[in-house]
Amino acid sequence: MNKTLPLQQLIRRAHQKKKHLGEFLKKLARRKPAHLLKEVKQIETQVWKEVDCLECSNCCRTMTPTFKKSEVKKIAEHVGMTYDQYFKKYLKIDEDNGDIVNQNQPCQHLNLRTNKCSVYAIRPIDCSGFPHLKRKDFLDQTKVYTNNLQYCPATLATIERLEKAMTTKS
Ligand code: SF4
Ligand code: SF4
Repeated sequence: MNKTLPLQQLIRRAHQKKKHLGEFLKKLARRKPAHLLKEVKQIETQVWKEVDCLECSNCCRTMTPTFKKSEVKKIAEHVGMTYDQYFKKYLKIDEDNGDIVNQNQPCQHLNLRTNKCSVYAIRPIDCSGFPHLKRKDFLDQTKVYTNNLQYCPATLATIERLEKAMTTKS
């Protein structure tokens, strides 16, 4: 994690604040404030100046991305396997929603020493877009963000600052 936001400290803070920030996000979804997306964008841009994913990699260590079939095909080819070989070795279908997900964490493509992704250029779109904070349907994702708070320091920092900003303005 970065110099100002140590990972373990943030994870502890996320556990303490999850309920409170979850309530804040729920209220925000009911209020639908004007200029919300602009505010999120500004805050997120600032947060990424302070958070270095290469010092964290917590999402790749503790969560699974969802894979499109076309992404599985591309990654399997890249590592010299067939689609079926790759699927059998690394993937499964999520019983809850039918998504294609990893069998295990950390992800098979994470270098645990350097925190780098070995398929970075062709990583799933779910990985490249994570934590998906700059979404037009931000207010439809509040449950997802509340869940991600405890895994992703960038999400925690963004939602904390958003709460502060919205409280100041209300
Ligand atoms: S594919 Fe790469 S970016 Fe995605 S979870 Fe695995 S290591 Fe992380
Ligand atoms: S996206 Fe979040 S959890 Fe993943 S490496 Fe970056 S800060 Fe860490």
